Amino acid sequence: MKSMTAGTRSLIALAVFGVLSAGIVLSVEFQPDEKEIPVQAEELPKASLASLPIEPEAFGVGAALETKTATLKRRETLSDLVNRLDLPGNEGHRALYSLTDSDLLDARRVRPGLELKAHLSDGALNSISVELDPGRRLLAKRTLDGGFQAMALDSALIPRPLIVKGTIETSLYMDAQALGAEDQQVVDFAQVFAYDLDFQREVHPGDRFEMVFNVLTDERGNVIRRGDVIYAALHGKAVDKAFYRFTTPDEDVTDYFQANGESSTKFLMKTPINGARISSRFGKRRHPISGFTRLHKGTDFAAPTGTPIYAAGNGVVERASRYGGYGHYVRIRHAKGYKTAYAHMSRYGRGIRSGVRVRQGQIIGYVGSTGASTGPHLHYEVYKNGKALDVMRLKLPTGRKLAMDPDIYAEFEIERDRIDAIRAAQDEGAGTLITASVAPPAP
Ligand SMILES: [Zn+2]
Repeated sequence: MKSMTAGTRSLIALAVFGVLSAGIVLSVEFQPDEKEIPVQAEELPKASLASLPIEPEAFGVGAALETKTATLKRRETLSDLVNRLDLPGNEGHRALYSLTDSDLLDARRVRPGLELKAHLSDGALNSISVELDPGRRLLAKRTLDGGFQAMALDSALIPRPLIVKGTIETSLYMDAQALGAEDQQVVDFAQVFAYDLDFQREVHPGDRFEMVFNVLTDERGNVIRRGDVIYAALHGKAVDKAFYRFTTPDEDVTDYFQANGESSTKFLMKTPINGARISSRFGKRRHPISGFTRLHKGTDFAAPTGTPIYAAGNGVVERASRYGGYGHYVRIRHAKGYKTAYAHMSRYGRGIRSGVRVRQGQIIGYVGSTGASTGPHLHYEVYKNGKALDVMRLKLPTGRKLAMDPDIYAEFEIERDRIDAIRAAQDEGAGTLITASVAPPAP
């Protein structure tokens, strides 16, 4: 999602896992800028795995065949790796050079664990190969003139939609996973709703969900890679919405839109902090320190000292300094007359001072207990035209509406209808879709 910052994404990831799978320890590595790897690289020599001799058995009958394998260690270069294979003469390096010189392989971006295989026949190097990604192997193959030619071998990966739908029985995370979704997809799904929902309170057993994502399978039907969520729907008590993934042709921003072309993105976040618990809501209450009953003009999120706090939306910092009982305090001015304020911080985010422009998801400070505070928490306030509002009840202004631009909306409709056709095909039981039925999660 180009439209979301790393901060926003990790925030949502943590919020989802913190809230939906309480008690389950999960390690999710977040790669905000992960790019889709093309299934087939165009303009490169291509061949199918079956037709090229990458396995020694294919080199010929009678030759003495040998395969040497080595795995890249930490701080090791590909050149070191080739040295370890102890190949005849300079052949390994010549073969490697044909790969790195071809743009197929960026030697600076290889990761430890990469496996390099050298195939020899009668003591001479025939080829080297590396499996760069599942389903993609790079090969430097001996040519007739004695050199090496680089090529990418892509096993034929077949893109397929995978539909996961069901009813929430324990948590979205557990139920969706039991039906075949992976961590990343549940995060992506929840992210689509992050502006509409307080996942801590507004997802209930009995709510129905549906997600469609692309998977790449090999010829045998094994899932090699799981891709983006292209459809996300939640039919529940708090929210009843469906979103379609679409990249706008003009701004090249990928976002999720309702069937009418309305973006899922809001311009303020309800919860500008990771995995926190709401400890006090907006409204009248007895103040724990003064003892007086008065209006609590914000929402409190209990979280450990040092937990990052994010800008709820794009805007300009109006104040970043001590402010009486608020302690270390940041206030941001947004568009449309909105302001947000963040209190009791232990310290400020890097570069946060008055007059600075911030973007949604940027770290503006860290949880603390400065000012009139009884323990570490974020006190979060939202104002519209000077009036304090309960952010949890707020109907926030929406993001982009594609219908404002008929040409773009027409493109969106094509994609929306394509996704709906995938969903309808599954409902009719037709096609070769991988389907999942509603089943209770594993105990
Ligand atoms: Zn408060």
